[in-house]
Amino acid sequence: MDKTSLANYPALTYKDERVSIKINCPGDCDYTKISFPVKYGLFSRIETQELVFEFNLNHEIRHAKSKADGWSHPSEWMKRTIGNDWVYYSTGGYAGVVESIGEYYLPNLMYQTNSLLGGKPFETPEVTKISDDWHTLLSKIVVDTPSLPAKASQWLGRVKQVLPEDLARKAEKLFAISGARATVLPPDARHSDYDIIPITIQDGCLYKCRFCKVKNKKAFQERTRQDILNQILELKALYGRDLVNYNAIFLGEHDALNAPMDLILYAAKTAHEEFGFANSYMRKPMLYFFGSVDALLRADDRLFDRLNRLPFHTCINIGLESADDDTLSLIGKPVSAQKVRTAFEKIQTINQNFAQVEMTCNFVMDRGLSDAHNQTMMDLVRGQINKTRPKGSVYLSPLKFGNPSREILFDFYHLKTQSRLPMFLYIIQRL
Ligand code: SF4
Repeated sequence: MDKTSLANYPALTYKDERVSIKINCPGDCDYTKISFPVKYGLFSRIETQELVFEFNLNHEIRHAKSKADGWSHPSEWMKRTIGNDWVYYSTGGYAGVVESIGEYYLPNLMYQTNSLLGGKPFETPEVTKISDDWHTLLSKIVVDTPSLPAKASQWLGRVKQVLPEDLARKAEKLFAISGARATVLPPDARHSDYDIIPITIQDGCLYKCRFCKVKNKKAFQERTRQDILNQILELKALYGRDLVNYNAIFLGEHDALNAPMDLILYAAKTAHEEFGFANSYMRKPMLYFFGSVDALLRADDRLFDRLNRLPFHTCINIGLESADDDTLSLIGKPVSAQKVRTAFEKIQTINQNFAQVEMTCNFVMDRGLSDAHNQTMMDLVRGQINKTRPKGSVYLSPLKFGNPSREILFDFYHLKTQSRLPMFLYIIQRL
């Protein structure tokens, strides 16, 4: 965003002994990996002796933390997603979090997922007070003094007018635009702190694997260009003034790579233009989607060249799951180990040839799986690669949900130290 556009968001600060208000704070404009809390985009903040609340440009709450003694750590905070979930970001004591997930802060989710790490912050009173009752806490902040600038007073009135019910309705509207809530986002979306705009270019997936907990019943079907354009225009209106704080899109649902090349490129280019990413506050636009083994093997080579020329850095995540036939059959994934190996080789070639395209892949992880599963995976991520590479992360996805486990974490570290590709845990997160 250039300086002229920034002039549309004049900053204002008010402070007395009970409250501080900062309007249009300029946060960081690049997502960074750093061991202290960073806030991104343009936002506004109110702080009292008890709490800190932050709001987006639509006057909707987006971050919160308590200053009470019961709050675990001063550097930990809560974030409300566009899907209206609260996420608690914990430091994990810094021990092992960055090695495990590639990020310095661990997202603790309100719903069951496959994370191996983290505690139960949503069972602590300070956290539930915010997730369940933030609006009551906000309503109690009254700044009744003539020294409060009119603009700050208006702003306070507006943030109080946005009720929890409004935010819940807005999330439902978001899900309705694309047809359904995204039950899973690519692990690579961590590079944008999961701040993505979802556009469905296809429904369903090819395989309906038995092990998968995020699938739906829809057969693979691509959307039309008109449908995609309608979504983009409705999303533009829904994200409203806060659109300038976004620079990332997720092309859903579960296998956008299997959609025709022209449709993928059309969706990406139209979104970039309509969302005004060239003039977003956040820099370096990102494009995320999933792909299946068959979609990758069939993909036209020109697709990667064209993606490479887009004004996005593109991350495509492929569910390989296993390179062992018995494991694939056990988990009910209808592809052969030979196809998985060929797909893995193609991933490496694309990663070496296209600087702006990063292919990542997933393997399942569980103590009940055979040694052959880990051995065949290590043959790929170590045996076939002669030296360490920084690009092309491999994500290990625990099969069980709601089962944090030190033993499985230990297994993960053991595999990670041998891998010649970056290896992380995949925490399944919804929109
Ligand atoms: S793992 Fe992917 S392809 Fe398999 S059922 Fe789940 S969404 Fe579909």
